[in-house]
Amino acid sequence: MAATAVLLRPVTPPDYLRITSPTFRIPSDPQVSIPVGILACQRDPLLRQINTTVVSCTVCQPPTAPTGKKTKKAVLAPTLPTGPILEVILHDTVIFPEGGGQPTDTGIITTEDGKAWSVLQAKRHGGHAVHYVEVTDSDLESALQAFASGSKVTAALDDAGYDRRYDHMSMHTSQHLLSALLETRLNLPTLSWSLTAYPQPCYVELPRGMTPEEILAVQTEANKLVFEGRKVHVEVEELDRDQEQPVEKLESGRSVGRGLPEDYTGGVKRIVIIDGVDKNPCCGTHLPSLHNLQLFILPHTDALSRSNTTSARLYFLAGPRLIAHTTATHKYLADTASALSCGAPLVPDRVSQVIEERKRAEKRVSDCEEQLAQYISRDLISDLKAIPDALFKKHIHRTDDSGNALGFLSFIASAFTANLPPDAKPHLIILSSSFSVQSSAGTTVVLVAGSDDKLVKAAGDALKGRLGVKGGGKGPRWSGKFTGVWKEAKEGVAVEEILKETN
Ligand SMILES: [Zn+2]
Repeated sequence: MAATAVLLRPVTPPDYLRITSPTFRIPSDPQVSIPVGILACQRDPLLRQINTTVVSCTVCQPPTAPTGKKTKKAVLAPTLPTGPILEVILHDTVIFPEGGGQPTDTGIITTEDGKAWSVLQAKRHGGHAVHYVEVTDSDLESALQAFASGSKVTAALDDAGYDRRYDHMSMHTSQHLLSALLETRLNLPTLSWSLTAYPQPCYVELPRGMTPEEILAVQTEANKLVFEGRKVHVEVEELDRDQEQPVEKLESGRSVGRGLPEDYTGGVKRIVIIDGVDKNPCCGTHLPSLHNLQLFILPHTDALSRSNTTSARLYFLAGPRLIAHTTATHKYLADTASALSCGAPLVPDRVSQVIEERKRAEKRVSDCEEQLAQYISRDLISDLKAIPDALFKKHIHRTDDSGNALGFLSFIASAFTANLPPDAKPHLIILSSSFSVQSSAGTTVVLVAGSDDKLVKAAGDALKGRLGVKGGGKGPRWSGKFTGVWKEAKEGVAVEEILKETN
């Protein structure tokens, strides 16, 4: 009999949301928008869709060009298309509006006529979640009609939207866990954190770097709590702004952690609690348990230097992002091992060996080039002695696939100058070098050297004018690059003519 596996979708436990103010009620009037803090996505983070009602809908006014200093965006936000967009406020939603360092969800709203509309982003305006709905294949008038106040709609996270959210929740809950352990075990406050674009590691910013031992200890402790499957829940109470403590600031003036945003007008205070580990005001969506999270901290910190402070970034991965990272790094390692024909554990040694061999080979090539340059320069000097002309002129063209052919031409010119007898007559040499396989985009390097700066400049100018060689020089040296196929019968002949005409 074939085995079957039935995968049940995870559900949020009923005690996840705990309302601690006795008088507090979640608005039930469908014409009232539930404030950010107790939206469906925040009450039940695993819920994928909800039937709800449109409270309001307006056409999105594109923002006017920002004036003055550009501020760095704190949270990753999508770039909206230029087409028409509606700003829709619903009674309730499963689509999380960006906040608390967590980027926006993307999702779908289905209107009563069965049409599905893309929600490109959701943002908090004051205390309310605003959905940015893309209007594509309908005119603005009928779009506004579909979202008329009081209309019944379904807000949902599609598969891509849910995967995105699940990743954000995994990283956000991990950040709370990590920051709590850093704070309580090492007295390291989290200055800020970044939920980077998938699948990059996220990071927390700390006042100092950490030792590998500290990092490992925090990771081990975090994963013990993950294995235990510590529960996470949310406590909500009515917000009394007068009771709020100001956020602690460092000497540098930077805030430690986050308080409630100043423009938040929802009237709800929301605390996210990891049982026995952490209590933190936060509006983000969090997994109901640490179970299956796994936390991997990249075993190094990046130091950041600013004018008034030195801080460090500690990178971490968890959940689906950790699996993506492990899969990718395993592939890099397997590919490298295969290229080196060795087992994965031998890769570091083999790579060091290859680098060492390469350094030695480069040194050997350089030594050989210097030696060869001596021979070529001696040939040039015997030509100079043998030819009776008052001005010795010569062009040598080489074929060389080295990435630094000009370096070798330079060796030749230097050796030539160094080996010249003191009474040598005036001279002008042009050296050029092309790759063995040439193309229209390929380049040929050209070097001019001579006893008279004026002659060198005249030859350089002629190479520019006649062959379009791009280059320049100073004193007795001029060098440049010719782009295209270098033919002996054309470019070679042109160089000979330039030499003939230079006197
Ligand atoms: Zn948070």
